[in-house]
Amino acid sequence: MSEKETMKMKTMPPLVPLGTLIGRELRHGNVEKPTINYGQAALAKKGEDYFLIKPDFLRVPEDPSTSFSVFAIFDGHNGISAAIFAKENLLNNILSAIPQGCDREEWLQALPRALVAGFVKTDIEFQQKGETSGTTVTFVVIDGWTITVASVGDSRCILDTQTGVVSLLTVDHRLEENVEERERVTASGGEVGRLNIFGGNEVGPLRCWPGGLCLSRSIGDTDVGEFIVPIPHVKQVKLSNCGGRLIIASDGIWDALSSDMAAQCCRGLPAELAAKLVVKEALRSRGLKDDTTCVVVDIIPYGYPAIPQTPKKKQNLLTSLIPGKRFHNSLNKEPNKLSAVGTVEELFEEGSAMLAERLGKDLALNSNSGTFRCAVCQGNEAPNDELSAGPMLCSKCSRKKDAMEGKRANLGH
Ligand SMILES: [Zn+2]
Repeated sequence: MSEKETMKMKTMPPLVPLGTLIGRELRHGNVEKPTINYGQAALAKKGEDYFLIKPDFLRVPEDPSTSFSVFAIFDGHNGISAAIFAKENLLNNILSAIPQGCDREEWLQALPRALVAGFVKTDIEFQQKGETSGTTVTFVVIDGWTITVASVGDSRCILDTQTGVVSLLTVDHRLEENVEERERVTASGGEVGRLNIFGGNEVGPLRCWPGGLCLSRSIGDTDVGEFIVPIPHVKQVKLSNCGGRLIIASDGIWDALSSDMAAQCCRGLPAELAAKLVVKEALRSRGLKDDTTCVVVDIIPYGYPAIPQTPKKKQNLLTSLIPGKRFHNSLNKEPNKLSAVGTVEELFEEGSAMLAERLGKDLALNSNSGTFRCAVCQGNEAPNDELSAGPMLCSKCSRKKDAMEGKRANLGH
């Protein structure tokens, strides 16, 4: 064999015998789980961004076939304690809200509700510490081809697929940009307005008063008011087995780059380098104005090269030939039309701030003790007459629910 041919052999992906492929399909009832490659990069201005990377968590202890991955970003404000507390406790609080003994399908179906319970439980626990900081959370669970994203605040997660369509998997909970949230906060007793500087001039984005927070949802922010809720927007999608790339980042990135710009600037590069490049690109266009954190996660078909394919060159060339029309503008018109693409199946999406709409009304009564399990904190409590409507909540979580809906004064007071 010539040297050239040897080189060619080395760079080609190894061929998998058909028998092995069929065996895999039989074992997993589907195609082989994808490979997950990831990279992270950050530049600190205030040092309030934190992240969590758990690439190999097991659903069933000691069974590697039940592995899933978790990636999260926490962008703290008014201090770092809420971001650190969420980083350390949120995952466990979410997992403890998933019923024991689920198979994979049941586990994935239970996940959106468990994410809501875990976020609220973490917020209640943090509140009890009596500290005043807050944090955004963008929390991503990847199990096989299924991606579940839960978020409060304005750190985003975007999905870039092989077709070149970039979509947003989160919603920005910013008072300035979210009319629905503005109405909810006002209806629950919050005041929304801009900062007043001398002379009565209003400046800056819409904020919630007292406190002056620009966000309508977060974990923490006890001092601002209970209408700043920790109930996450949750979206669950299933990728086709072509895979895709996730870019999870704090607002330091998104204030500088559109979703398409972030996706395009790092296409064709491995995840580690891609994360660095996104941060660099944001810095180049806006300077270091805020903490800037980026996690890139590639979901790649098993046996494929580590770097996702880039079919985009041609498209870039074409659009750059049209005068005055920029590529990312043409994609921005329908940023959320995932199903139209045909490579992504939408399984679940819900963003309501009402706990009753998020947790359902299942009654998990323990016939031995006569107690029920609280849908938020998973604690056991004896039922009383008051608990007949809505999700089953212990008295502590029930007080929290009322407070978030503006039916009760601040718990902190
Ligand atoms: Zn409870």
